Amino acid sequence: MAALRTALQGRLAQVLPFPSLTSVRLASSFKAADLIVERSSACRPKPDPSSLVFGKQFSDHMLTIEWSESGGWEAPRIKPFQNLSLHPASSALHYSIELFEGMKAFRGVDNRIRLFRPMLNMERMHRSADRSCLPLFDKVELLECIRKLVEVDQEWVPYSLDASLYIRPTFIGIEPSLGVSLAKHAMIFVIVGPVGPYFATGSFNPVSLLADPAFVRAWKGGVGAYKMGGNYGPTIAVQNEAVKRGCQQVLWLYGEQEEITEVGTMNLFIYWTNQDGDKELITPPLEDGLILPGVTRQSLLDLARGWGEFKVTERPLVMQELLAALEAGRVLEVFGAGTACVVCPVGSLLYRGQTLNIPTMENGPDLAKRFFQELTDIQYGRMESEWAPLVA
Ligand SMILES: *Cc1c(COP(=O)(O)O)cnc(C)c1O
Repeated sequence: MAALRTALQGRLAQVLPFPSLTSVRLASSFKAADLIVERSSACRPKPDPSSLVFGKQFSDHMLTIEWSESGGWEAPRIKPFQNLSLHPASSALHYSIELFEGMKAFRGVDNRIRLFRPMLNMERMHRSADRSCLPLFDKVELLECIRKLVEVDQEWVPYSLDASLYIRPTFIGIEPSLGVSLAKHAMIFVIVGPVGPYFATGSFNPVSLLADPAFVRAWKGGVGAYKMGGNYGPTIAVQNEAVKRGCQQVLWLYGEQEEITEVGTMNLFIYWTNQDGDKELITPPLEDGLILPGVTRQSLLDLARGWGEFKVTERPLVMQELLAALEAGRVLEVFGAGTACVVCPVGSLLYRGQTLNIPTMENGPDLAKRFFQELTDIQYGRMESEWAPLVA
C-alpha cells in the first residue's frame, strides 16, 4: 500500500510541473468581449512630454476586473480613473498579496500606436498570479482588455519619439480577512500614464553602483523571479544607503561567491573579451530563480544571437571574475536592461570601500547604443517587427 502510494506520488510529480501551483486554482477567465466601457465626461489636459516625471501622471481611464471564489470573474470594466475603495483588512495591504507588470505603448513615426512583446508581460503576470495563489486568467483576453484601454486613452500616448505611455497592470488580493490564507476575492486593475525619456536629450548617462554583499534582493527558493510588490518595498532602504555612499543604484550580489545578479530593478549585462580572447556578452541565468526574467533582457539576447557576431552566454558570474577582468582590461561594457531605460550604462562600482572604474562610456558604449537603437527603432515603428503589435 505504502509502495503504491509512493509510486503514485512519483507519477504525479512527473505530471504536475513542479513548483507550479496551478492545481490550486482553476478559474475560467473573463472575456474582453464582455468589456463594459464607461467614458469619462471630463478629459483632463495632457502634460507637455518634456515635463514628464515617471509615474506621477495618469490618464483619464482605468481597467478593473474583479473576481470572487463564489462568483468567478466579473465582466471587465473600463471606467474613469478613480480611487479604489478597499476593506482595511484586504490581504494585499497586510501580506503583500500583490503583483504587477510594467510595459509601454509607443506612438511611432507613422503616428500609429504599438506595444512591445506584450505577451511576454502577460505570461510573466500569469506566473506571478500562480505563485501568489491568485486566480488564473486567459492571457490573450487580458491583453485585449489592455489594448482597449490604451485605445480609449490613445490621446495620452505622447506625440514624441522619446516618450511613451507606461502601462501598469496590477493584481491584488482583496480578501477582507486577517487570516494568512489564499484570497477568495481579488482584483486586477490597470492604470496608464505618459512617461518621458529616461535619458534627457538622448545622451547616455552612466550610473555608479554600490556592490555590498551585506544586502540581498532574492535567494534560491524565494520569489525574486516574480514581479511581486513584496520584492520591492524592502529595497528602498538599500537604494537609500547607496545614495548615502555616493552611488546611484545597487548592484545586487548573492551568496558566498558573491554572484552578480541584477542592478536596481534592471537585468545586468557584461560585454567583455573572455579568457579565451573571444568577445562575449554575459548575463546571469534564469534557472536559479534569482533573476527577474525581463522582456528587455530576452530581447537583447534574441537580437545578439540573431546577429551571431559574438558569444552570447547565460551563466552565473561572480565578483572575482569581474574584478579580474577589470584588472586585465578585458571589460568593454557593463549595462542594465529594462523597460524604463532600454539600456543603462554602468560607469563605476563601489565595492569594499574601493571605487572601480568601468570603461563602458570609453568604449562607446557601442553595443549598448546598438541595442538601444534597434529596440527603439522597433518600438517607434522605424523598423517593421513582429515584436511591436499595433494597438489601433
Ligand atoms: C521589471 C524588472 C526588470 C526588467 O524587466 P523588463 O521586462 O525588461 O522591464 C529587471 N529586474 C527587476 C528586478 C525588475 O523588477
